[in-house]
Amino acid sequence: MLHIAIVGSGPAGFYTAEAAQKQWGDDVTIDIFDMLPVPYGLIRTGVAPDHQSIKGVARRFEATACCENCRFTGNVAIGRDVSIAELQSLYDAVVMATGAPNDKVLDIPGADLNNVFGSAAFVGWYNGHPKFAELAPDFTGDTAVVIGMGNVALDVARILAKTTDELTGSDIVAHAFDALKQSRIRRIVILGRRGPHQIMMTPKELGELARLERASPRVDLRDLPPEGDDAMLEPGLRKSVTHLRSFAAIPESHHADMAVEIDFDFFASPRAILGDGKVEAVEVERTEVKAGRAVGTGETYKAPCSLVISCIGYQSSPIAGLPFDERAGRFASDEGRILPGLYCVGWARRGPSGTIGTNRPDSFHVVERMAEDLRPSGKRGRAGFDELAASRGLDLVTFDDWKQIEKAEEDRARDGAPREKFVDVDEMIKARG
Ligand code: NAP
Repeated sequence: MLHIAIVGSGPAGFYTAEAAQKQWGDDVTIDIFDMLPVPYGLIRTGVAPDHQSIKGVARRFEATACCENCRFTGNVAIGRDVSIAELQSLYDAVVMATGAPNDKVLDIPGADLNNVFGSAAFVGWYNGHPKFAELAPDFTGDTAVVIGMGNVALDVARILAKTTDELTGSDIVAHAFDALKQSRIRRIVILGRRGPHQIMMTPKELGELARLERASPRVDLRDLPPEGDDAMLEPGLRKSVTHLRSFAAIPESHHADMAVEIDFDFFASPRAILGDGKVEAVEVERTEVKAGRAVGTGETYKAPCSLVISCIGYQSSPIAGLPFDERAGRFASDEGRILPGLYCVGWARRGPSGTIGTNRPDSFHVVERMAEDLRPSGKRGRAGFDELAASRGLDLVTFDDWKQIEKAEEDRARDGAPREKFVDVDEMIKARG
């Protein structure tokens, strides 16, 4: 019997479990660990609360978790409660599926001012991650600046722009729902350091901005390159740029009818965040794109604002003793092999790129590498882990416990919402009954 431990119960972790089941059938046991008492990682705390259909993939993960040879164990922090070395002594393979939970640092003066947040914190706050429940962003000013032109920037801008009605059917947590209900933000500026041809936003997500109840997206036609140049773009990006062109064609009278404006500011690189204790403006330098890179022109201006959310990408947390690629912010690996018996998958392996579905082939690929390397070695696996956990008095949360927590979250949902998540670890644990 082969024993595999997967650290992290997000999409990469669950797809790895699925791939291992397909690879070894009844000849493997798989333990999936999570530091939270609840599973699914980014599906729960990263995917936007108004994108419920994407969250539906959790049903597939549930089927994996309920297979005989697979077990979810929550409320155990690998690296604190149990070390990686201890897991390695018990399992034939340990797979790091720990994602990229930290914001890439916005390394400019003033980034530590009040009401400046990274997207990990801000998205975690509205999605009910216990670590960010106390964030308390202030929405009393009228302008927010969102830095970055990827899908996370789009998620953040859309959530800031939506009406209470539009958010009702989402699983945005109560503290965020209530705070946004009172929000006075009326202008959301999305800053991109490069141009329309360099955005990372995908067409489906970008197109949503045109269908908001009270907000309209504004693009300055002069920022767009000649239409003929779009032909050289790959098809997805070309579609996104077509959306930008349609935003540029929205008449002024339509913007005037809308309560909220979402402004795309291209060729705009943040140089400093200004303010006395709290953010008051972003200092921006105009750029030109040369050979694909943003190059400052020396021209600067101030974008007044009261809230800044930096959506510039994520990085993994290094672990002492494990090779780490500092520049890329992920584990250093060869096709997922970090060290003998130690692997990484998903964002921990390739960095924060792709959609949820990208993690499936990624995980299957790494499991193929594992199959080349691994042979059963008589390690104790789950039985050994349970002994160790009992000796340390760890309060493990099982998948059945999670189902109780899930039911409690569904039972307390506001009208029209699928669930009201617990945002406190103790409350989650209490809810398992
Ligand atoms: P991303 O797609 O890599 O976009 C990051 C953006 O930040 C880019 O526009 C980048 O500009 C900009 N940026 C980076 N460093 C900067 C700096 N120092 N100053 C100014 N701008 C900077 O990252 P993301 O939006 O965090 O998304 C992460 C992954 O999750 C992506 O694969 C995304 O598609 C995925 N995701 C998918 C969905 C969905 O499918 N619905 C939703 C959310 C996220 P440059 O290009 O110039 O570097």
